[in-house]
Parts: sequence; C-alpha cells; structure tokens
Amino acid sequence: MAFCFISDLHLQEDRPEITEAFISFIEGTASKAERLYVLGDFFEAWIGDDDENDLASLVKKTLVKLSKSTDIYAMHGNRDFLIGSDFAEEASLVLIDDPKKEEMFNQSVLLMHGDLLCTDDVDYQSFRETTRDPSWRKEFLNKPISERKKIAKELRTISKEATGRKKEDIMDVAQNEVFRIMEEFSVNLLIHGHTHRPNIHHISINGVPSKRIVLGDWDNHGWFIWMDANSCELKKFPIS
Ligand code: MN
Repeated sequence: MAFCFISDLHLQEDRPEITEAFISFIEGTASKAERLYVLGDFFEAWIGDDDENDLASLVKKTLVKLSKSTDIYAMHGNRDFLIGSDFAEEASLVLIDDPKKEEMFNQSVLLMHGDLLCTDDVDYQSFRETTRDPSWRKEFLNKPISERKKIAKELRTISKEATGRKKEDIMDVAQNEVFRIMEEFSVNLLIHGHTHRPNIHHISINGVPSKRIVLGDWDNHGWFIWMDANSCELKKFPIS
C-alpha cells in the first residue's frame, strides 16, 4: 500500500507539456498508489466550475479513470481556491480542508498547501481572508464568466507587482508558524507545497525528530512524494 502526493502543477492551456506530463504521471505512478493527494495550485487559475474549457474536461476525464484504482483527494491552493463541489464530483475527487491531519502508516501527518504558513506576508494573509469569505465567494461566482475572467486577470497583475516588491524570505514559510502549527496538531511530519522550494527539512518538535517535506512546482521537473509503510521520499522526474 502506498500514498502519493503532488502540488503546484499550475496546469494551464499555455503549458501543454505540463498537462501531458501530468497525464503520464497519473496513468503510471499515481495509478499504483491507493491514494493520490493534490495539495493545491493544481490549476494556474480557476474562476468557477461552470467555466467549461478543454483543460478542465481533460483533467476530469483523466481523474475519473484514475479513480477506478486510486482514491483522490484535493486541497485548494491560492490560485485555485474557487474549485467547488461540482468539479470535485465530476473529477471523482474529495475536497479536503487546509490544514488536514491524517493518520498514515501509524504516523500523524499534517497536510497543507503552504500559503497559510507564510505569516510574514501580512498583505497576502489579509487578501486570503477576504477572498475565502463565503459571501465574497458567492458574489464573485454569481458574476458572468467574462467579468470573472477580467477580475482574475487584474488580481493576478496586482499580485505579480506585489510579489516583485516583497523580500524573498517573506514569501517563504515563517519558521515560528511551522513549529506552532505542528505543535498545535501534534504531528511530527508536515507536507506542503506553495513555496516552490522542494526540500526535506529535519526539525525537532518538542524534542522529537520531525520533518517538513516541501513539494516542488512542476516546471522542468515534476515532483511527488511517495509514502509507504517503510519510507517517505521526495522524488522528481524530468519534463521535456
Ligand atoms: Mn501556491
């Protein structure tokens, strides 16, 4: 038995090679796992489940096929937090909260996208709070698709400008928040993505040797974690 984790694929029409790599990965590696977890930023953008496009249809078709062999779980990222229950149903996946604590192979594991850990980025956290509010969500999703696309583009431009101005370390996780949340949930393993800084960090939580494993974004390489009863490895493969 094995579980597989991915995040930050940032799927978009403009990067067909990433979509192709995703499909091969699903048909190969992921289909050999009992569970697949997608820890956010699956898509570069998501303006609502009713925005029908070829990419969304292809992903749904691919996941429905995978669901015959593998249970699929997905968490929102900061880019695709508007993925809703219609998409989840059509893609045969289960949406999970962020953070989510799971018991896996006799170990408590905390799963997150990772943006919640970037507490030094005060502007972003306030934007996050606004846009995750159910009333903001409802109002946005009630707008026509063309208007939603326009707003999403504007928000993206503002975010890019802000990101350019921010110091590198503001956009990484805040160490004190990592310790705080791992202590709060009583876990010795934290898995997340978002920062695009794939790595295995060895830390100590209340004197116990612990790990924070960071998934990478899919670009020149695809990244995944493969977990079974004996190991938990961060792996990568080239994308051409
Ligand atoms: Mn992200």
